[in-house]
Amino acid sequence: MTKLLFSLGAAALLAAQAPEQKRAPGSSPDDPQPRVVTPGKAGQPPSDAIVLFDGKDLSQWTSRDGAALRWVVKDGAILSTSVTKESGKSQDLITKQRFGSAQLHLEFSIPNMPGHKGQAKGNSGVYLQSRYEIQVLDSYNNPTYPNGSAGALYGRSSPLVNPSLPPEQWQTYDIVFHAPKCTPDGKFAEPGSLTLFFNGVLVQDHTPVTGSRACNPEPGPLLLQDHYHPEAPNTPIRFRNIWLRPLEEKPAQ
Ligand code: MG
Repeated sequence: MTKLLFSLGAAALLAAQAPEQKRAPGSSPDDPQPRVVTPGKAGQPPSDAIVLFDGKDLSQWTSRDGAALRWVVKDGAILSTSVTKESGKSQDLITKQRFGSAQLHLEFSIPNMPGHKGQAKGNSGVYLQSRYEIQVLDSYNNPTYPNGSAGALYGRSSPLVNPSLPPEQWQTYDIVFHAPKCTPDGKFAEPGSLTLFFNGVLVQDHTPVTGSRACNPEPGPLLLQDHYHPEAPNTPIRFRNIWLRPLEEKPAQ
């Protein structure tokens, strides 16, 4: 009997001490609803995207030093034909707006360059915040060092697989980027992260993002690289359908 009373008493005590079951945020229909976004069709921008290039003009873009743009728009695409052997000077294209963490979509097409190989074959790049390069290269039957191939976080992380299409075809990058967190003295307190779908195939899976330079907590422009290569000084890489959604939003709760 004493034992039974003790057990009942212990059970009551435990029940009293049990933490109150808290429901997860968003468990009630009365909780705030997720914001409505109308999706785009077939890679087209969703209703809340910042459209950086819609095939018409370069009004969202500028150069690093503000000099007149040598990039051109032709047949609904941006062409990186700004480097010539004579000038030998490249001109990267940057957005006028600056961004932190973001979802980004863009499409690119590389010309057929049968006489070139490795890094000389259609080299460009998409630089998140102008700091972290996702390599653009013709990596279809074109081996090079893996962390310099298409879909790589250049020099840091090779793509998981190689879903490259042949040159002259339109290819897609769908990117989820979370910016690194920095200490006041410019160290990486917390790496950022990169998730990248290349032609719909996962090639970077929450890859840590750091850099060799000081960590910069400020937002930065998106940059398209005008890669000067002496063997291919005037390679017109084409870009189109570029849009971005800043990711500052917290989930509805
Ligand atoms: Mg590059």
